[in-house]
Amino acid sequence: MPAPRVALKIDVDTFRGTRDGVPAMLADLAAAGVRASFFFSLGPDRSGRAVFRLLTHPRFAAKMVRTNAARLYGLETALYGTLLPSPIIGRRCREVLLRCRAAGHEVGLHAWDHRTWQDRLHRLPRPAVERLIDRGIAAFAELFGERPRGFAAPAWFCTDDAFEALAARGFDYLSVSRGAAPPFHPWVRGRPLAALEIPTTLPTFDEELGRDGVDESNYVERLVARYRGSPAPAPVEVLTLHAESEGLAFRHLFRRLLARHAELGVATLTLGELAAEARRAATPPPVRRVLVGEVPGRASPVVIPGAPVLTAG
Ligand SMILES: [Zn+2]
Repeated sequence: MPAPRVALKIDVDTFRGTRDGVPAMLADLAAAGVRASFFFSLGPDRSGRAVFRLLTHPRFAAKMVRTNAARLYGLETALYGTLLPSPIIGRRCREVLLRCRAAGHEVGLHAWDHRTWQDRLHRLPRPAVERLIDRGIAAFAELFGERPRGFAAPAWFCTDDAFEALAARGFDYLSVSRGAAPPFHPWVRGRPLAALEIPTTLPTFDEELGRDGVDESNYVERLVARYRGSPAPAPVEVLTLHAESEGLAFRHLFRRLLARHAELGVATLTLGELAAEARRAATPPPVRRVLVGEVPGRASPVVIPGAPVLTAG
């Protein structure tokens, strides 16, 4: 069986995750000689707003307790945007962000304002959605001197308006959905988008922990047991990690994962490389509908790949 292939997609949501979690992950990746794709939140860290969700979303509250959110995010983070002002991550963490790209990793956009996308995207009028995206692109371009080619949606959530707005801004690929499908072109409002959609194929650490007997001692083994080795070349697994968990409180699991990858001979590629491979393939990427559904262990609905659409020509 050919060696599994995995793309490490690292979402960075908060100021603390950027300032403290990213440098830790950069050190671990350098030690392992592995490249990853980092997706950054560059605007205000309003994480404290999540505290209000505890009062209104019982399922969310249950998950925060199950995954020990205070350990994951820290008390300070829990107050940003409420009792403490929201730090502008891109300005405060410039050096870390530039160091990430200089180390050879792929950098892309996760959000301007992660909480607003996650909590209110579906209620925002189109111009407000476009403003969120444009501010993120502008902050990214100001920092890195070029526009982002990849976008990973906060909380794996997107709307038709946001899909269209992202595609209109020339992103090479989006990573929004959750499911085992290979890269595809999303079919939105009756037409295919030029951007490729790259689904996250594996569950995240916080979804797995505490479910079906998964704990810190067996998480990595359970995860790598899911990697598909066939048909050749092995389909690429896309694993989403968070600088806030695997870069901080659960860094030991990230190190264990990288060590297991080395033992198993896992080939690592970036999402950009996966997108390029899909575009080069003899069979062009399919067009699929995108739906909203649920994944086990996650409180809010996510985008999932739907049925293929047969397009003329
Ligand atoms: Zn995120």
